[in-house]
Amino acid sequence: MAQHRVVVIGGGFGGLQAVAKLRRAAVDITLIDRRNFHLFQPLTYQVATGALSPGEIAYPLRAIFKRDKNVRVLMAEVAGFDLEARAVRIEPVEAALPPSTVPYDTLIVAGGSRYSYFGHDEWESFAPEVKSLESALAARSRILEAFEAAELDDDADRRRRRLTFMVVGAGPTGVEIAGQIAELTRDTLRRDFRAVDPRDGRVLLIEAADRVLGTFPPSLSRKAERALEHLGATVLLNRTVVGIDADGVAIKGADDSVERIAGDTVIWAAGVNASALATQLAELTGAELDRAGRVTVEPDLTLPGHPEVLALGDMIRKRETTGEATPFPGVAPVAMQQGRYAAKVVRDRLRGRPVKPFRYRDKGNLATIGRARAVADINGLRLSGVFAWFIWLTVHLFYLVGFQNRVLVFIRWSVSFATHGRGARLITGAPSDEVTRASGR
Ligand SMILES: Cc1cc2nc3c(=O)[nH]c(=O)nc-3n(C[C@H](O)[C@H](O)[C@H](O)COP(=O)(O)OP(=O)(O)OC[C@H]3O[C@@H](n4cnc5c(N)ncnc54)[C@H](O)[C@@H]3O)c2cc1C
Repeated sequence: MAQHRVVVIGGGFGGLQAVAKLRRAAVDITLIDRRNFHLFQPLTYQVATGALSPGEIAYPLRAIFKRDKNVRVLMAEVAGFDLEARAVRIEPVEAALPPSTVPYDTLIVAGGSRYSYFGHDEWESFAPEVKSLESALAARSRILEAFEAAELDDDADRRRRRLTFMVVGAGPTGVEIAGQIAELTRDTLRRDFRAVDPRDGRVLLIEAADRVLGTFPPSLSRKAERALEHLGATVLLNRTVVGIDADGVAIKGADDSVERIAGDTVIWAAGVNASALATQLAELTGAELDRAGRVTVEPDLTLPGHPEVLALGDMIRKRETTGEATPFPGVAPVAMQQGRYAAKVVRDRLRGRPVKPFRYRDKGNLATIGRARAVADINGLRLSGVFAWFIWLTVHLFYLVGFQNRVLVFIRWSVSFATHGRGARLITGAPSDEVTRASGR
């Protein structure tokens, strides 16, 4: 008899766990992703600042499942769903191949999220984000090129603008990247240039709310802010970004006054929107969408009227048994727990066992602010400083996919810690100055 066919969309945190927990079950699994690798997004900002190389935080999906004969990996773009026919429409990445469909008995959708520029997609070309590897590499080139350009520029005003780095959004990613850029200016690069002093660089972290790390307790927000200032970064709170162009950023203060800050390098670390797959599933099933584009799933993560379709991770919020819909924090542990839960749902159903609603176990929040500084909120236990940083290091090494990557990252971090260096400070790809040239600078 043919085995139960499970199709998993997305080889990120959620999808990977679903496949890993199903690979020993009597099912045939097809994992579809537009990328051929799993990306450890919590460390992409370290690629953007030259601390780590891309290969150290990404791992080929085929390699992860090479020993599991019942797991097939397809590199393709999921273009849509035919829920009645129980098939996924895919477009192979090789344009010469025709679109095709992949049939399923159970479908697990874990398409994640993407950065949202709050309806201003035109800002994206001036302010790269650090969610995808490609964009993190573009950000790395921009940050490093700014120092190179300043070294060649005799004009004091222009130099100041070139060495002004702005990070928009003071959630964990914004705080982490601002801390890393501050370390580049104050520490890593301080002896590398002759005409400019990188320590003159300004790092501005811009946040619309009244504190950094809004999901942490206020006492840890204050500690993180002090740690950033200690590193030389300036935190601008209660400021909303209302414009970004080749010359810098326009920010609106609490009194509605608009101020322009000139600067060449802007990194976007503000809000995210769910994957477009969430909208498609909502349209097909009548499930609600929230403002961030997340589809509302049932307590067992299934789509209304389609118990054979589960969705999870950054792209969903869940309807409680009380009827209320609640979003989850947009963090990897949520997606991982839901991926494991989805696998259990499939296994339990095949064995004819009842399925309990999904419950998230919150294990806490972590954010690092440069070398040997971090904040941690673990079940109400609030930690900061070196101890929190060790916890941060251990957790990230533990969850990094691939033994080899763990060893490599451990070595890299140890060498960086001892030497204050960053070995991956490479400017790659086409010079990122199409924008700069177009603006005549
Ligand atoms: C810069 C950054 C830093 C972060 N730091 C942390 C942190 O420190 N700690 C933490 O817990 N969380 C962190 N997060 C959040 C965490 O990465 C996400 O919550 C987590 O990745 C969500 O998992 P997911 O499985 O829902 O989606 P993802 O891991 O994003 O996976 C989605 C997958 O689906 C694929 N996909 C999407 N659409 C399609 C399509 N149409 N066709 C084919 N494939 C598709 C994508 O290629 C991707 O591989 C961070 C996120 C970012 C962006």
